[in-house]
Amino acid sequence: MELFREEDIKMYFYENRLKTFEGWPFDEDCSCTPENMAKAGFIHTPSDNCPDIAMCFFCLKELEGWEPQDDPEKEHKSHSPSCQFIALKKKVDELTVEEFLKLQKERQKFIINKSCNESITKFEEAAKLRRADIIKTAMGEE
Ligand SMILES: [Zn+2]
Repeated sequence: MELFREEDIKMYFYENRLKTFEGWPFDEDCSCTPENMAKAGFIHTPSDNCPDIAMCFFCLKELEGWEPQDDPEKEHKSHSPSCQFIALKKKVDELTVEEFLKLQKERQKFIINKSCNESITKFEEAAKLRRADIIKTAMGEE
């Protein structure tokens, strides 16, 4: 296994996160500027309906509905208290290899958790539809 694949570690770096904030609706005279968002670990992940979704690259927590006076670091800590990235006392480039790998291991847990939860939701939705079909059939509607 390769330990440092570029796409895995890219978002650990502020500059790369900052680049994602193109078109971010809060720019001046506010706390949640692209710079502060990127500093707090967020990347910009807009959808068609929500231009202001941001996600922590590490714990994958998504937050939307930002207000100009919101402090990205505070919001991050309060919505995702178990995120080790926002709790980090050192800069990423000051970490030892061992510290970095430990961190990366924790990040993998968040990734696995999220994808499991998504699969469960998908499965439950499919099961719900199937159940409705069965009931319809049983009631002789089809
Ligand atoms: Zn986080």
